[in-house]
Amino acid sequence: MNRWTPDAIWIERDEDASVLARRLLARLPDTPVHIVGDPREAEPLDGFGAGKRRLVVQRHRGSFLQHCPAGTTGMVCCNYLVMNFAANCPFDCSYCFLQDYLANNPALKVFTNVGEGLAELDAALRRHPERTFRVGTGELADSLALDHLTDLSCELVPFFAARSNAVLELKTKSDCIDNLLRLDPKERVVVSWSVNAETIVADEEHGAASLEARITAAERVQAAGYKVGFHFDPLIAHDGWEEGYPATIAKLFRRLDTRRVAWVSLGSLRMTPRLKAAIKARPQKSGVVTGELVPGADGKERLWRGLRVQMYRRMLEWLRSVDDRMPLYICMEPPGVWEKTFGEVPADRQVAERLVAGSA
Ligand code: SF4
Repeated sequence: MNRWTPDAIWIERDEDASVLARRLLARLPDTPVHIVGDPREAEPLDGFGAGKRRLVVQRHRGSFLQHCPAGTTGMVCCNYLVMNFAANCPFDCSYCFLQDYLANNPALKVFTNVGEGLAELDAALRRHPERTFRVGTGELADSLALDHLTDLSCELVPFFAARSNAVLELKTKSDCIDNLLRLDPKERVVVSWSVNAETIVADEEHGAASLEARITAAERVQAAGYKVGFHFDPLIAHDGWEEGYPATIAKLFRRLDTRRVAWVSLGSLRMTPRLKAAIKARPQKSGVVTGELVPGADGKERLWRGLRVQMYRRMLEWLRSVDDRMPLYICMEPPGVWEKTFGEVPADRQVAERLVAGSA
């Protein structure tokens, strides 16, 4: 896969001597550089797509450690924490929620003060030695798509490998795993891929690694000692989904060891009015905004419940026929959908415990 590089770099004044800025300048010697007093000067006037072409290097303001938004809105929660060491993503999936979430702030950012983020996390882990934390870096960014430039994984993997009450999830649609192969995760890091039916990958996930490349990368990190995870999220009710999804499941697990799979999640497309408008305004036509969408407790529209549950149940059937011991969960769904899909509504704490058990 071609590795992404920016058209220009914008560095916040005072951060140009940071380790990250110096690393980027050494790796991108021919890329134009602007030093700016206020990183907002880098925000493009010409739209979301332009934002993905420029890299902003700046300090992160505020707390790094956040609770995943699913925990606040009447959805069953798996107690997931997110840390944002970057914002925005070089890929261009038609359905990406960042088109809404970062609409006013789209330049691709990497943060220089990673050490402060890790110190914040370290303090939280020490305050709660009785808990095991699941922490992900793939909420506002792809966890690995810029790793060939930033080497962020070289700081994160040793940090988690040295701790007994936290598991890191690196979530990606890239095959950027070279750094990981040189590190020892000591059972504390799960590398996970968002995957989909082949036709959705080809038509909607522009710039991301092919399904074949993602599977090859998963095979390689598994062989290097990592557990892996998969997210069928968003499931799209396209023509042929009942053939497309089992075909992807078969392709994945023909080559991967299911005993080294930490978790597989399922999620439905979640749509805000602004995201729907952004998808419709894209230059390439997208097939994801089809079918009847119904608003949920969190204000987001989803596929109507009957079809959602049918898709989840079929997915469970196909996944369990491969290996019924793989930990499975559904993401951002209310108790009623859990009940109809799994026949039970686990307490939030139980979901978290099962997933921690899958990763350890
Ligand atoms: S890989 Fe994820 S973050 Fe990147 S464009 Fe696609 S959906 Fe958005």
